[in-house]
Amino acid sequence: MANDLFAIPIEQLRGVSTQKAGELHALGVSSVGDLIEYYPFRYEDYRIRPLIEVKDGEKITVEGQVATLPSLQRYGRTARLLCRVTVEGMLVTAVWFNRGFLKDQLEMGRHIHLTGKWDARRRQITVAESSFPDRGGAKTGTLQPVYSVGGSLTQAWLRKKIDEALNQYGAMIPELLPAELLDKHGLMPRREAIVRLHRPENTSEGQEARRRMVYEELFLFELKLQAYRAANRKQPDGIAHQVNNDEVRAFVSALPFTLTDAQKQIINEITYDMKRPYAMNRLLQGDVGSGKTIVSAVALYMTVRSGNQGALMVPTEILAEQHARSLSKLFEPYGIQVALLTGSLTERKRKDILASLQIGLTDIVIGTHALIQDDVVFRRLGLVVTDEQHRFGVNQRSVLRRKGLNPDVLMMTATPIPRTLAITVFGDMDVSTIKERPKGRKPILTYWVKHGMMDRVLGFIRREAELGHQTFFICPLIEESEKLDVQNAIDLHAQLRQALPELAVGLLHGRMTPAEKEAAMVEFAAGRTTVLVSTTVIEVGVDVPNATLMVVMDADRFGLSQLHQLRGRVGRSEHQSYCVLIADPKSENGQERMQAMTDTDDGFEIARRDLELRGPGDFFGTKQSGVPEFRVANLMEDFAVLEQARDDAAALTAESEFWTSPRYERLRAFLSREALFDGEPLD
Ligand code: ADP
Ligand code: MG
Repeated sequence: MANDLFAIPIEQLRGVSTQKAGELHALGVSSVGDLIEYYPFRYEDYRIRPLIEVKDGEKITVEGQVATLPSLQRYGRTARLLCRVTVEGMLVTAVWFNRGFLKDQLEMGRHIHLTGKWDARRRQITVAESSFPDRGGAKTGTLQPVYSVGGSLTQAWLRKKIDEALNQYGAMIPELLPAELLDKHGLMPRREAIVRLHRPENTSEGQEARRRMVYEELFLFELKLQAYRAANRKQPDGIAHQVNNDEVRAFVSALPFTLTDAQKQIINEITYDMKRPYAMNRLLQGDVGSGKTIVSAVALYMTVRSGNQGALMVPTEILAEQHARSLSKLFEPYGIQVALLTGSLTERKRKDILASLQIGLTDIVIGTHALIQDDVVFRRLGLVVTDEQHRFGVNQRSVLRRKGLNPDVLMMTATPIPRTLAITVFGDMDVSTIKERPKGRKPILTYWVKHGMMDRVLGFIRREAELGHQTFFICPLIEESEKLDVQNAIDLHAQLRQALPELAVGLLHGRMTPAEKEAAMVEFAAGRTTVLVSTTVIEVGVDVPNATLMVVMDADRFGLSQLHQLRGRVGRSEHQSYCVLIADPKSENGQERMQAMTDTDDGFEIARRDLELRGPGDFFGTKQSGVPEFRVANLMEDFAVLEQARDDAAALTAESEFWTSPRYERLRAFLSREALFDGEPLD
């Protein structure tokens, strides 16, 4: 393609030596097109502002006239050049350090531009840069782009090369977006936007240019996703569940509580999905305690009633056992058989369960990773649910799914992330969000205390115990050593037993046998122990509504989302609940997390801050890496645009014209250039 800027090697630009070209390559710039799209990450402000607006110590740029003869003073190795300049009719002192050579150029009456730090009291500018308008080339009045540079490349050189490239090749910058979208959103043409990004006349122009490029970047990204979706359109080869609405209504009204509107709404969405002959792929996200389990229970009920089996996979044994207990109880009156499959079953028990699954005697199986082993075979798997799905890798989920013939899939997570981000990260799926908690729940009051305040924490535990409520006491997690971790829990348990002789104090940690663990959980859930000292094994999913106090020892060792999960173990009833974080006030980055925890108990807000503190890659963990990196767009700031871009891309790709009309040839070329179809399919 003759007019493709990306086909013109950077070496063809005047003044780009082999060495410079090498250094540009290191920045990812190998063609003129790359250079033109090498955007600044910020701007240096050389605009003139009235002195009266400038605060003491701020950086300013002024225009003035030399009013006195300069004087040059030397202090040891430092040379100080002083001169008065009239600015806006006022005498201002300009001071340069080690710029003695300027002395002869400071002629009386000559116009001069000064940029530097303003000392309001002395009316003095410590000059960082100065220039004479009669010489030309002044930056005054402009915003200067700042690029990331490396090696021997300087800002000035790069600015110049980009300027030259824009002047010489700018006319060749193609428009990528269809005119109707530019109109719809009032976006400037691409060529103009790129020029303005490099050389904005003012801030709002820079922002407008950025807005255009952010939209384009997100739109193209969404277009790729949508085109992929169109090319892999779902086939009607899933299970069309036969759902009897009256039966479901009866099931729901027999529950010990009334569903929230959000729960009802999502059950409706799921019912709709499950009835259709397309395989459901739905992510249900809802903050800790929002009541996701019961939603999945209704879905499991529906699959069983239409002659299928359901599987519920969870990340920990403790959670599997809890779900097995509560779901067995829930389903018992309906004659629905629930089995628990974990790694710690005896071989005989396991064989029994596998056999009854295979012949269809077991309706619902709940388990850990043990569910995805080869010898687990279903007679007719209709629905796969994963709880706390962010704990599973993509593979684990699809292995379970493949144990059926395109079963419906429901994934649940308490790590709430914005819908569009969920799709960009987890692939193509529908997303439901529970935003409200069951009625009567009070916000969890959270305190951050020092280690020295243990006595007051003990007093707190006693007070809650007097009200008949229970406490979780979480011990620090020691990453290097599970052994130390366990020792900590054992020590703390001993201490608390001594300090609280009147209360029953239980213990739970990863080195206990599965039977011991379950016993400890059952004792606590039944209220026979008042305090449960535990490691983070109870972090996700555990549901003991009577527990109202969560104490986290050395809270600064935990991540923000993890702390929020732990806190979510309380606040599960109408009783006021509390979370006490014991943390060293001097711990450096702990502070921000403790602050965030005391500021809010809204999981969405916590997730947002966590994402901010850690960045998307880290936030989603290595398993979910592949979070796209954008050049101009910022997923945190530009969500609204991402949503808009997604809708636009969906609408466009839905039209047959998009795939045929010459008007969209450029976009189609973009799609095929992006090698859309040779990557891993989205989950
Ligand atoms: P999570 O979304 O964290 O998994 P759970 O499903 O464990 O939350 O529900 C939290 C608690 O709230 C449980 O004890 C559950 O029985 C209860 N619950 C769920 N839905 C409601 C509701 N609509 N009204 C009252 N309590 C509810
Ligand atoms: Mg849960």
